Order: sequence, then C-alpha cells, then structure tokens
Amino acid sequence: MNKGLLVVLSGPSGVGKGTVLKEFIKDPDLKLAYSVSMTTRQQRPGEVDGKNYFFVTREEFEESVKKGELLEYAEFVGNYYGTPLKTVEMLREMGKNVLLEIEVQGCIQVRQKCPDALTIFIVPPSMKELEKRIRGRNTEPEEIVQQRLAKANREMEMIGQYKYVVCNEDPKLAADIIRVIIKRHMETTESNA
Ligand code: 5GP
Repeated sequence: MNKGLLVVLSGPSGVGKGTVLKEFIKDPDLKLAYSVSMTTRQQRPGEVDGKNYFFVTREEFEESVKKGELLEYAEFVGNYYGTPLKTVEMLREMGKNVLLEIEVQGCIQVRQKCPDALTIFIVPPSMKELEKRIRGRNTEPEEIVQQRLAKANREMEMIGQYKYVVCNEDPKLAADIIRVIIKRHMETTESNA
C-alpha cells in the first residue's frame, strides 16, 4: 500500500477554509483524514474538544514541543497551534491522505520536513471581502479582528510558498478545484510507486 499524501491547506483567517474543506473532505475517492491540531486558544462556542482542536494549556503545549511530539507548530495572534506528529504518521501509513489546515509558518516547517507535501493556499476574491467575512463572524473583539486583518495581509504575501493557489469566490467551485488537484497527485504517486 502507498503511504498517504500530506495535504496542507492554508489561507488567511476568514477566507472560508472550513467551508471549502467541508465540501470535499468526505469525498471517499480522496481518502482524506483531517489532522486535529493542538491549540492554546480559547474554545469558541460550538467547537468540540478533540474534533475541531485539542484545547490545551500553554504548559501542556510547551511540553509537547519539548518532547518532539509535533510535526510543526506556530504562534498565531498570541496562541500556539501545532500538528501532532504521531497521528499524522499513523494515518499516512494506513494509506490515508492527511489534511492539515494550518497557517503559513507551519507550512514552511512541513515543507522542510516533507518536500513532497501538496500545499494549497486559498485566497479571497478581494481583501475587502475578506474583512467583511472576518467581521461577519462576530465572535472576537475589535483588537483581535485588527490583528487577524494585519496577519491576513502578511499571509497573502506568502503565497509563493505554495504549489497551488485557489480563489474562494464560491466554496463549491473552490472545493471542486481542490478535488481535482488532490486526485491528480494521487494518480501521480500511484504511477510512481
Ligand atoms: P483559528 O483560531 O481561526 O481556528 O485558527 C487560526 C489559524 O491557525 C488559522 O490560519 C489556522 O489555519 C491555523 N492553524 C490551525 N491549526 C494549526 C496547526 O496545527 N499549526 C499551525 N501552524 N497553524 C494552525
């Protein structure tokens, strides 16, 4: 059995990564498994521990870093986020294509450790539209919204780090494009095996 692909999905906060992801993650042909990250950020209403994230304290997170348990990690707007290495490896060994929904610094670390990773960056149709989407979420104070917007602008400058850039004008269409990209890579990997 071929080892599964490592698929990295990034994009600025508010671009709609979650909505796009929901459209393709359950497609059985893609054999995807979502990697649940660890974070020190506060749980948002509706989020489930162990499903959306593993919510941990800073001490717990730092302990995992020390023990080398993370494939990558980064600090984002005052909180840590990281990918548990063991689960990713186990799923890939089982032939699953593992999907990481992470920010740019994390993607750079993944590329260093795994140059074959399939990296995809989702962009908004415009920065104005992005601001509207971030404000529309209405879950965070203005100070955090401003930090996320500043971060989004910096992240947009990093699209050169990615193999593919997909615009999320329409989530269904963006998901279809991503589906094609993943399938194509699966075929290439199979034919090289
Ligand atoms: P949010 O707080 O909106 O859930 O996530 C903030 C940012 O952290 C998003 O850009 C998201 O992609 C990123 N992120 C989530 N999990 C991880 C992770 O495990 N590692 C890294 N580097 N970034 C992550």
